[in-house]
Amino acid sequence: MAGNITFTMIKPTAMKKGYMGNIIAKIIEGGFKIKALKMTKMSKEEAMEFYAVHKERPFYNGLTDFMSSGPIIAAVLEKEDAVKAYRDFIGATNPENAAEGTIRALYGTSIEANAVHGSDSDENAIIESSFFFSKREWV
Ligand code: GDP
Repeated sequence: MAGNITFTMIKPTAMKKGYMGNIIAKIIEGGFKIKALKMTKMSKEEAMEFYAVHKERPFYNGLTDFMSSGPIIAAVLEKEDAVKAYRDFIGATNPENAAEGTIRALYGTSIEANAVHGSDSDENAIIESSFFFSKREWV
């Protein structure tokens, strides 16, 4: 059975461009309930740990530089079948290929600075949520 939790981040470029409020509003309008939320900044080491699954990929160094370059919003979201629902909602990795009206189509700048992160499995949703939040910080 699919889980009801996913994890998201608003990435540094979207934060710098001032899209934080619009993106959070869109997430809520999309029927996702916010279970935990914080603004924070990752160190290079933390970004490398978070994205360790991608360490063999050519974009790993650039991605972890980028993700540690400025403030982000981290949030835990709840909805039925949350992982798939949220990935459909944010659109394809490359904003150029993201469906009209999705967060990445609206607020993404490039394949790397694609506005938001979304977990790719129920297991990773829990691992990623636990990376940023203690259980006490979930409501
Ligand atoms: P996602 O699940 O849609 O976020 O995509 P992936 O798990 O494949 O990649 C993780 C993140 O790495 C993406 O959200 C992008 O920020 C970045 N990324 C993915 N592919 C590329 C690429 O080809 N080039 C660069 N520079 N970044 C990429």
